[in-house]
Amino acid sequence: MSTQLDPATLQIHHPYSPPAGFASVQPGVFKASTVIFANTAALRARNWKEKTGYTYGLHGTPTTFTLEERIATLEGGTQTLLVPSGLAAIALVNLALLRSGDEVLIPDNAYGPSKELARNELAGWGITHRLYDPMDAAALAAMIGPQTKLVWLEAPGSVTMEFPDLAGLVRAARAKGVTTAIDNTWGAGIAFNAFSLPGGEAVDIAMQALTKFPSGGGDVLMGSVTTCDEALHLKLKFAHMRLGFGVGANDAEAVLRALPTLALRYAAQDRAARTLAEWLAQRSQIAHVLHPALPGSPGFAHWQATCHAAAGLFSVVFDARYASEEVDAFVDALKLFRIGYSWAGPVSLVVPYHVQGMRSLPSVYTGVLVRFSIGLEAFEDLLADLQQALGVAFG
Ligand SMILES: *Cc1c(COP(=O)(O)O)cnc(C)c1O
Repeated sequence: MSTQLDPATLQIHHPYSPPAGFASVQPGVFKASTVIFANTAALRARNWKEKTGYTYGLHGTPTTFTLEERIATLEGGTQTLLVPSGLAAIALVNLALLRSGDEVLIPDNAYGPSKELARNELAGWGITHRLYDPMDAAALAAMIGPQTKLVWLEAPGSVTMEFPDLAGLVRAARAKGVTTAIDNTWGAGIAFNAFSLPGGEAVDIAMQALTKFPSGGGDVLMGSVTTCDEALHLKLKFAHMRLGFGVGANDAEAVLRALPTLALRYAAQDRAARTLAEWLAQRSQIAHVLHPALPGSPGFAHWQATCHAAAGLFSVVFDARYASEEVDAFVDALKLFRIGYSWAGPVSLVVPYHVQGMRSLPSVYTGVLVRFSIGLEAFEDLLADLQQALGVAFG
């Protein structure tokens, strides 16, 4: 019958289908809004809940299902949802679990936009939040009240890099029956398993900005939300479906293509970052080096008890005798380190911060802070760049 169709129609309904059984190194890219059902019985029998078939592009394709399974394995969980950014993953967890009248507790050193979401949208919807000191599990336990429905964790903290006692914080929340969610972007499923913490503790939810290590290219935005608990997964999944947080197939493919090199990239950036951080700690202009794997950094003992690796990320606090302009001159003199947000890509990045305005708890750091993200350049070139920029700015 197809031979009687107009050639233009045949471009839409072509009889050819390629042979089955194609195998290649990387999974294929399947793109769809519409998914075709074989017949009305198949349409009526559609199942959105399990990965037994396909219903609509928003709810999964072979490409997104494959990426979900790989991230679940990476995180040490069983079920993963993909969302368009790391921040969308934080939003999904909040929107799925919190209702008007509920309270969420957020570490004082959490990723800034997560606190902004709580201060603005969540507050507007009648969801309150308080910031807690992540280095004091007993204080967290004392803060949890009947309204508390979710405790966020982050290890280490954003910019100031304090590594908390994750197991102790989880224990405090679990003792009161409160769900825990970790922003696991730094650990990336490599440094530690959030579902298997010291003492047998486990978070309920681990989210990641796949934007960072899993993508590794500085060119993709994506987030993931992983659980081990089927009921909790379904609660998140239904909110995910109703909110329409789908991801594009080309972006999913970019992350799938980068995952085989994730562990190697993480290890290389870890090695280079530790060496550069140790070198910077010896410089007279630097008052503190904040890297959780360096002895003396806040929470080093917790890092040691929890992790077997560290991300290629650290901050330095310049001596308080240097004005902001002098530190800016150092940052501007860097040639290989580029100025920009995000991390875990090929290019080393720097961002200067004034910590005082970023915390509700008083900061111990009076000098200007610079956060370094180590890329994949040759380590000797990065060291020479730091050396020449210190010379330019401080003589
Ligand atoms: C980057 C980042 C996010 C947000 O990820 P986006 O994909 O940029 O929205 C969340 N948490 C942490 C710790 C991050 O570093």
